Amino acid sequence: MKKTFAVIGLGRFGGSICKELSREGMEVLALDLDETKVNEYREIVSHAVMADSTDEFVLKELGFTNIDHVIVAIGDNIQASMLTTLILKEMGIKMITVKAQNDYHEKILNKIGADQVVHPERDMGRRIAHHIISDNILDY
Ligand code: ATP
Repeated sequence: MKKTFAVIGLGRFGGSICKELSREGMEVLALDLDETKVNEYREIVSHAVMADSTDEFVLKELGFTNIDHVIVAIGDNIQASMLTTLILKEMGIKMITVKAQNDYHEKILNKIGADQVVHPERDMGRRIAHHIISDNILDY
């Protein structure tokens, strides 16, 4: 059976994950507090809903317990990101990927039990730095 995904938070990072997963034919449930963002993704993903991910009852109503992999892409609101992760963990979601805002956030997410913590800006910066170094070596 095809894996199901949910993306919480439709900023640049969450939005780009939604677009790529959908482009690859995956079933994606996209969720955001912001109605404008939700409307933007209605035509792109399988389901787009406006909701607060820190509300456990709402997540259960939306059928999150049946989702294989949830990506928490909430940025600035670290408290909402942590609470959402905790709720998802307690619901028994098998795979939870969370975007961390800083090192402390990352540490707490690991303690809560996030399966994968990503730090896109930092990781991309490191990758580009390595590319720059290897390009310079080839130039000599
Ligand atoms: P990016 O860098 O990926 O653009 P960001 O790190 O600036 O994003 P934010 O814009 O702060 O992140 O958050 C991403 C999205 O998460 C926003 O669209 C925001 O509405 C949504 N969001 C924040 N809190 C919640 C919540 N409790 N439930 C659902 N969505 C939320």
